[in-house]
Amino acid sequence: MKFVSTRGSTPPTGLSAAIAAGLAPDGGLYVPQQLPALDIADFDGCDTLAQIATRLLQPFFAGDPLQGELAAICTEAFDFPAPLNALATPQDYVLELIHGPTAAFKDFGARFLAACLSRLQRAATRPLTIVVATSGDTGAAVAAAFHRQPGLRVAVLYPDGRVSPRQAHQLGCFGDNIHSYKVSGSFDDCQSLVKQALNDASLQKQVPLSSANSISLGRLLPQMSYYAAASLAHWRRHARVLNWVIPTGNLGNAFAAVLARAVGLPLGRIVLASNANDVLPQFFSGADYTPRASIATLANAMDVGAPSNFERLRWLYPDAAELRGAFVAASVDDAAISETIQRRYRDHGEVFCPHTATAVKLLEDLRRDGADGDWCVVATAHPAKFESIVEPLIGRAVEIPPALAGLLQRPARAQPLAPDYADFSAQLQQLQEIIFP
Ligand SMILES: *Cc1c(COP(=O)(O)O)cnc(C)c1O
Repeated sequence: MKFVSTRGSTPPTGLSAAIAAGLAPDGGLYVPQQLPALDIADFDGCDTLAQIATRLLQPFFAGDPLQGELAAICTEAFDFPAPLNALATPQDYVLELIHGPTAAFKDFGARFLAACLSRLQRAATRPLTIVVATSGDTGAAVAAAFHRQPGLRVAVLYPDGRVSPRQAHQLGCFGDNIHSYKVSGSFDDCQSLVKQALNDASLQKQVPLSSANSISLGRLLPQMSYYAAASLAHWRRHARVLNWVIPTGNLGNAFAAVLARAVGLPLGRIVLASNANDVLPQFFSGADYTPRASIATLANAMDVGAPSNFERLRWLYPDAAELRGAFVAASVDDAAISETIQRRYRDHGEVFCPHTATAVKLLEDLRRDGADGDWCVVATAHPAKFESIVEPLIGRAVEIPPALAGLLQRPARAQPLAPDYADFSAQLQQLQEIIFP
C-alpha cells in the first residue's frame, strides 16, 4: 500500500516514510492510494482489540518494513480496554476510550505512533526528537507513550497558566527523555515555535525532528481499531449496525470512524458534535467552509477553528453536496454542556467529561427528533481530568482512575521558555547532546 497527498503533488510513499514525515511535502495530508475492502467475515476469529486492529491494519501495512511487526505493535499499543457499555437510556451506548495512561482517547494513537517510531529508530544512529505543542491532552498522551522509548525524545510545549493544574502536572511528571517547556505565551505561540522548528532545514541537519499532531497517519490509522472492535462486537451480538456521535475538534477521531466505515465495517450514521466552535456545523448546514480563530469553551480539547483533518474528509467526498449529505454536525454550547453533565448525573448517576457531554446532548436531541436504532456516544476523556468543571456541577468528587493517580503522585517540573525561536532552537540542540540510558 502506498500513500499519496490530499493535495496531489507528492509521489506515492510507503507507510513508514509517511509516518516519519507527518505532513506530506506538498503541505497536504497523507491518505491511502486506494481503500482496502474488508468484509465482516474477514474478522472471524479476531476477538481482542489487538487482534481486530492487526487484521484491520494489515492492508495498510502491506509491503512496508513494519509489516512483520504489526501484530507486536498492536499488542504493545492496545494494552488497555475500550469497553462498549450501555447507557441508562434505551438503545444508547457509550464507547469508553478513557482507560489509557493519560485517561483520554489520544492514548491509542500516541501509543501506536510510539510503537512504530521506536521500531523505525532501531536502525538509526541519531536520536529523533518529537516536537509537540499542546493545549492539554495531546502532549500528555505523547509524553506518556514516548517515555523511555530508546532513540526517541520529546519536547512538549504548553502555554504557561492556560492548561488545568492536573494537565500541567501530567506534562511535567515524566522526566528522562521527555522535556516539558512552559511557554510564556498562548497555544498559538507554542504551535508557531513547533512549526518553525519543523520547517528549519538547517536545525534538522543537527537535530532530526518529527511531529506527533493529529494529522499523523501513525495516530489516525490505529484510531479506526476501536470503532471496528465496538461495531463488530455489537453486530455479532445484535446483528444491527451501531450509529455514532463523536465529540470533534480536529476531526482526527471522527475521520477514523469514517475510514472504518469506508473499508467495510458495520458502522451506521456518523454525527459530529462540536462545541461553540461551529465551523463544521456551519459547513454541513450549507455555508462555505470558513476556518476562523477558536474560542475558549468548557470542552477545551475541541477548541478548534480550523479542523486539520477536514482536508481528508474532502478527499474522501470530493463532491461538496455529497459530503454535506453524508454527515450531520451540530454545536453544543457551554450552557448545554453544563446542563447535560448535571442532569445525566442527577437522573442516571452517569458522569461525563465536558467533551463527552457534547455528544450525549446531541444524541438526546436526535432521539427527541425521532432517531431510531442503536446509537453510541464516544467518551473521549475521563471526567477526573476536568474535575474543576465537573465536580461543582455534580456536587461530589470524581474518583481518579489508577493510571492518572499514579502520574499525579510523581513530582513534576517544566522549564520556562520565552516565545522566542532562537531560544527554542538552542534548547533543541542542547537536548540532542544528552545521552539517555
Ligand atoms: C482531542 C480531543 C477531542 C477532539 O478530537 P479530534 O480528533 O481533534 O477531533 C475530543 N475530546 C477530547 C477529550 C480530546 O482530548
